[in-house]
Amino acid sequence: MRYVLFCLLLFLVACQSSEITSKTVDMYNGDGDLVGTAALNEQPDGVQIKLKLEGLEPGFHGVHVHEIPKCEGPDFKSAGNHFDPEGKEHGLMHPDGAHLGDLPNVEADGGGLVDADLMLAGATLKDGKKSILSKDGTSLVVTEGQDDGVSQPGGDSGARLICGEISSGEQNESKETPTDPTQLNEEQE
Ligand SMILES: [Zn+2]
Repeated sequence: MRYVLFCLLLFLVACQSSEITSKTVDMYNGDGDLVGTAALNEQPDGVQIKLKLEGLEPGFHGVHVHEIPKCEGPDFKSAGNHFDPEGKEHGLMHPDGAHLGDLPNVEADGGGLVDADLMLAGATLKDGKKSILSKDGTSLVVTEGQDDGVSQPGGDSGARLICGEISSGEQNESKETPTDPTQLNEEQE
């Protein structure tokens, strides 16, 4: 009996540890090219987002989590509005803001590269109203211009250039072709 209890305990612990606390999201441009990744990590005060991108115009760009996990180029309107589970106004500098999905601008360097470490304060990857992953998920969108932090509904940040789907499902099945094992064999010989 003691053994059975021990097994049950192990099983429960295993179940808990399988809850997702990190996730890497592939980021695509309007042509459907893979242009970077967003590494998400659950933290006590929110979700850390390490964003690496290429091919942007040098300068500042807006970044937002959107409400629908659907990135259909070239305009990515399929992603819907900013993720806003609490009914707030847009903008990190707005007195009645911000959307939960509002993030600080990121800066692309002279070569068009972004390497940014952001914090989506108050959000979680676990279950609940503020989860960006549970239920259907959300998406992460980068815009052409920078977010002014106050204009409605999107900070006057221009066209949506890059999008990545944040979902717990098999997001890669339709977007990436599996690696060809024969290619690997040829390289080994
Ligand atoms: Zn917003």
